[in-house]
Amino acid sequence: MDSAYEQAIEFYRRNYRGACVYLLSDDTESITLRNEGQQQCRFCGRQAPEVSFKRVAHAIPELLGNKKLFSLYECDACNTFFGRGIENDYGNWSKPMRTLTGRKGKKGVPTLKGGGEDGWRIERENNHFAINAGKNEGNRPFVANEDHRTVDFALKCDPHRPMAVHKAFVKMALSILPERELPNFRQALAWIMNPDHREEVPILAPALVTFTPGPAPIDGIKVGVICRKDKAPEIVPYAFLLLSYGNESFQVILPSPERDAAFEGAAICLPPFPQPPSESGPLETFSLDLREAELVTGTVAQCTFQFESVESTELRPIIDQ
Ligand SMILES: [Zn+2]
Repeated sequence: MDSAYEQAIEFYRRNYRGACVYLLSDDTESITLRNEGQQQCRFCGRQAPEVSFKRVAHAIPELLGNKKLFSLYECDACNTFFGRGIENDYGNWSKPMRTLTGRKGKKGVPTLKGGGEDGWRIERENNHFAINAGKNEGNRPFVANEDHRTVDFALKCDPHRPMAVHKAFVKMALSILPERELPNFRQALAWIMNPDHREEVPILAPALVTFTPGPAPIDGIKVGVICRKDKAPEIVPYAFLLLSYGNESFQVILPSPERDAAFEGAAICLPPFPQPPSESGPLETFSLDLREAELVTGTVAQCTFQFESVESTELRPIIDQ
């Protein structure tokens, strides 16, 4: 074990406490989160009969494969608002990696395709990839190396607003936080409810993603929020969302001007939240640039896969991961 990993563990132990954590897999029992007293929407503050609560609200988007964690404190109006808004941006942004890592949403693992009628197509089912290379060699978003049994993917994300993606991460955190934490996130709640993504809140650190190579380290989804300890020895931001699925682990700061006034908006640098080492190779951490409020096109997700076996067919090669 390297010392940077242990130092990072120590850093987070000294300064943070877990506010909540959920492990969601096929074996997990369903969990439905609810508020104390009369049912009330945590996002808009309204109650029945002003708003209805007929739909099941996924506390973590269904497109990530969440079939276990729900909440009763998200009204139908907010559910629709988030679904058509920031969660749609999140879906478009995360689609290539959801296909590559086999995340099953409502309609299964998303299929990726492009290049017109005779174009390429990528599907994933369990440990298999089915890749149809298509007729047009020039526009394929992947390069196969048969000697090394690898495929390099460079897949375009669907159009999305990066700041809305950040808000979707924050919305997941605000959906799972215990009620007693909410007074620390009044401004964050108002921020995610604002459809204008140009409104600024202090974001003290960039969102981070850590890639763990090899087989996915967890089966399902792990999601939680860590908050600063009351007597934290270091000056650190108040809270982060930690979200892992497939081979990706995200660490996303939650804006809390209520608790982070001392920073006056200045960016700070922290060690990434440590992820367990992998036998398949070193972990890599990148920062995500999610500051843009307007629609962006052409963001590319890159990833290399190594395969055990490749079966080429006339119509479509089947690849075993
Ligand atoms: Zn609501």
